[in-house]
Amino acid sequence: MNRSEQLARLADPSEIWDVIVVGGGATGLATALDAAARGYRTALLEQADFAEGTSSKSTKLIHGGVRYLRNGEIGLVRESLRERGRLLRNAAGIVEPLAFVVPAYRWYERFFYGTGLALYDRLAGGLGIGRTGHPGAAAVSERVPNLRRRGLRGGTLYWDGQFDDAALALAMARTAVTQGAAVANHVRVVGLVKEQGRVAGVEARTRFDGREFVVRGKVVVNATGVFADEVRRMDEAEAKESVRPSQGIHLVLERRFLGGDTAVMIPKTEDGRVLFAIPWKNRVLLGTTDTEGGEVSLHPRPLAEEIDYLIRHAALYLDEAPSHGDIRAVFAGLRPLAKPPKAQGGGSSASVSRSHCLFKSDSGLVTMTGGKWTTCRQMGEDAVDLAAAVGGLPMRPCGTADLTLLGPSPAEDSELFDVELPYRMGEVDRAVREEMALTLDDVLSRRTRAAFLDEAATRRCAPKVARRMAQLLGRDEAWVREEVADF
Ligand SMILES: Cc1cc2nc3c(=O)[nH]c(=O)nc-3n(C[C@H](O)[C@H](O)[C@H](O)COP(=O)(O)OP(=O)(O)OC[C@H]3O[C@@H](n4cnc5c(N)ncnc54)[C@H](O)[C@@H]3O)c2cc1C
Repeated sequence: MNRSEQLARLADPSEIWDVIVVGGGATGLATALDAAARGYRTALLEQADFAEGTSSKSTKLIHGGVRYLRNGEIGLVRESLRERGRLLRNAAGIVEPLAFVVPAYRWYERFFYGTGLALYDRLAGGLGIGRTGHPGAAAVSERVPNLRRRGLRGGTLYWDGQFDDAALALAMARTAVTQGAAVANHVRVVGLVKEQGRVAGVEARTRFDGREFVVRGKVVVNATGVFADEVRRMDEAEAKESVRPSQGIHLVLERRFLGGDTAVMIPKTEDGRVLFAIPWKNRVLLGTTDTEGGEVSLHPRPLAEEIDYLIRHAALYLDEAPSHGDIRAVFAGLRPLAKPPKAQGGGSSASVSRSHCLFKSDSGLVTMTGGKWTTCRQMGEDAVDLAAAVGGLPMRPCGTADLTLLGPSPAEDSELFDVELPYRMGEVDRAVREEMALTLDDVLSRRTRAAFLDEAATRRCAPKVARRMAQLLGRDEAWVREEVADF
């Protein structure tokens, strides 16, 4: 993926795109990929980096949603399990099976969760990963050596998918480009173009040099997550709220806080929330929280009470409990929860499923809110079905159900970033040359996941990585200093 080539295509004034997608997170990328795979001329603009918003800050599970089962949302679980199976097949190497244990400390828990998870297996049908089992206390301890042993009566073992969210986003962007789409990061949509009252394109501005150009198209899809209402107000100044952000954070700990390769899921903490401890790369992710009402931001900040909450709950389930000093990194993201369209008033609307919400405005702006990473392919399909109808495009069948996503090309074997980080300098070259990395943060947070794994180690290696980027991008020492300071 060459950014200059992509930008030149987007800025070409003679081009009229079939579908323009605003936002390069899970939702926007899935929509662009679907549109391009159907043969529609497709453009995507992302104001920051691909997945820099919510989509790089998830729990990194491709899951059916055991908790929806508890709420009786069978349809949603079935849809998610089907999409889980497709992602495991289409993005093999980025999405992988992961074993989970639900520990039982009360006699009835093994039976209760075992029955629910057996249903989970049945709903997955032919797309199941592995069978649910019922290990005894010794077998559970062997899988998760640091799980609290006192009172442990065994547990339920089940399977879900795990992935690298930023890597999947990039794979979708690269695959969309091979399907003919033009995509660019660091290009912000600052306004909508209207002709005779209908949305007919977007006004774009590049992030670092402030270049402005117009991109024209037959239909515009607003896939901007928690920013959806900002874009809707470029269309209708009085548009009512359609998203309700809810913040979730994760703490990153050393692997010894689990001790094995099996994740732990606590379906119901004392205050009724779900808690995960998940092995991911060379660390353990502990999450998450659910805090409503914060400020809408690309980089939300974890709150002290969220960190305390996770540390306190980890101590209830782990023999060696982590303290604040054991935290290697923290990340926070905002769920773009959909507000039911009826509550918004104005414009015709259609709720596609309980997990995501799709509607169009009177002037034809298509907006998608809600959903999750797991179901993004289905969300893209639904968005393109509606966009094709709104844009008067010839109807064509969706082609993403069996579309294999491009994996990253191998990087040169070279010097490590840092002894604490599983990344090598050759990955910087690949990120800049082939993956549109433009900032130090692009490389340290999303082309590699260094900043998500170890903040101190990442700070140590930041100048070295910035200097290598400067060589590749033709930048000077002042740029290096600025990037390191910004990061
Ligand atoms: C804590 C947490 C844990 C989660 N865990 C999971 C999980 O394990 N599994 C799962 O399936 N789902 C999970 N989710 C849900 C999933 O991460 C989200 O549903 C998904 O990432 C949302 O993607 P999005 O594209 O809608 O939003 P975003 O990723 O936020 O993308 C929107 C993009 O639009 C861009 N944008 C905004 N305004 C403009 C503009 N004017 N011009 C151009 N671009 C613009 C933004 O920069 C942003 O990149 C989790 C969510 C959270 C918060």
